[in-house]
Amino acid sequence: MTVRMRHTRAHTRNRRAHHAIKGPQLSKCKECGSLHVMHRMCENCGKYKGRIIIDVQSKIAKKAERTKRKRKELGQEPEKNIDEK
Ligand SMILES: [Zn+2]
Repeated sequence: MTVRMRHTRAHTRNRRAHHAIKGPQLSKCKECGSLHVMHRMCENCGKYKGRIIIDVQSKIAKKAERTKRKRKELGQEPEKNIDEK
C-alpha cells in the first residue's frame, strides 16, 4: 500500500453525504408541553427540570406595563403637536 491512497471525488462526496446538519433536538416541556431545545430552559414557561429559571409571569407583566406607558407617551405627543400648530 502506498502512503497516499487515491481518493476519488466520488469517495469524498459519498463520505460527506452523511455530514448534513439535522435540525435542533427538541423535546416536550414537562410543565407546559411546548417544544424546547434539549438541555435548555423552556422559552414558554421559563423552567428547566422543574426549576424556575426566568420568572416569565413577571416579565410579561413588566412588558405590558412598558407598552402601556409607551402608548400613553405616543398618545400624548400628537396632542402636543396639534397644540403647537
Ligand atoms: Zn414549558
